[in-house]
Amino acid sequence: MKRNLDLIIFDLDGTLYPANKDMDMGYPRAAIQLLARKTGRDLAEVEKEFMNRKEELRSVINGKPTSTLTLLYYYDVSFDEFENEVDQVLNIDDYIQPDPKCVRVVQRIHAEYPLFLYTTNNAKVSRRILKRLGLDTLFPQEKRFSFTDAGKLDLPLREKLEYIKPGIKGFKHILNKHNAEPERTLMIGDSEVSDILPARKLGLQIYHITNRNSFYSLPEWLGI
Ligand SMILES: [Mg+2]
Repeated sequence: MKRNLDLIIFDLDGTLYPANKDMDMGYPRAAIQLLARKTGRDLAEVEKEFMNRKEELRSVINGKPTSTLTLLYYYDVSFDEFENEVDQVLNIDDYIQPDPKCVRVVQRIHAEYPLFLYTTNNAKVSRRILKRLGLDTLFPQEKRFSFTDAGKLDLPLREKLEYIKPGIKGFKHILNKHNAEPERTLMIGDSEVSDILPARKLGLQIYHITNRNSFYSLPEWLGI
């Protein structure tokens, strides 16, 4: 039987395509390069400090933080600056391959439910990844909430950061936008800390992506 849902929220990285270690390294690299350039400090020194800060933030959020959150939390760097740095550092096509099977799965789900994308990645890189995957029309601009959108909110910085996963305000914002009930909303993601725990806290249904097969099994799980 088809599951009754108001909304399905997808994570991007590690969910719509497999996580890639080399690509993941691009985010801390971009953060460290940017900080070294801005402060005129030595790259190795900045790296050491950044990694310590990341460890420190781990205990604040009770789980492994992203480099993005670490950067914004501790340093005077704008959302735009980091977005542009990552956009320059990452050559998406080197890491992500088009996956027609994934496109068919999302098309199938899209025909039955409203979809939304909630990602810690920024708008420019998300757009390039979705294009590469052939999913850009299934998740159009207005159906995405990214790091960049959190940055544009008219709020003090610390409040903006609560709209970045694993903060729960972004989830709430997306539910409100769609008039969706938490118990009739499904969160699909690969990260225990960023996707699963906050969604569970808000009473959303959860689908944990652990490998490609778990992704391809989604239509069956949804009963469509
Ligand atoms: Mg992810």
